[in-house]
Amino acid sequence: MGGGNGQKAAKARERNQARAAAEAKGSQNKTNAAAMSVICKTCFQSFLCNASPVVLKQHAENKHPKHNFYDCFPHLKPA
Ligand SMILES: [Zn+2]
Repeated sequence: MGGGNGQKAAKARERNQARAAAEAKGSQNKTNAAAMSVICKTCFQSFLCNASPVVLKQHAENKHPKHNFYDCFPHLKPA
């Protein structure tokens, strides 16, 4: 039974690493989802939430010339 403790420690370390990786992945996904929060309602392309209105306007004009800008991004419609 030599080296039993060492093996146990290695296993524990592996488990911790796996958990840390999973947590990192989870928070990364959350960050990405939050960052890509502007979605074109016409083609469902996602944009960064801080994408400039100019970029969104260009998208609407280039991709959906027959659509109104606010059909694609209704949340930008002035109240
Ligand atoms: Zn679009």
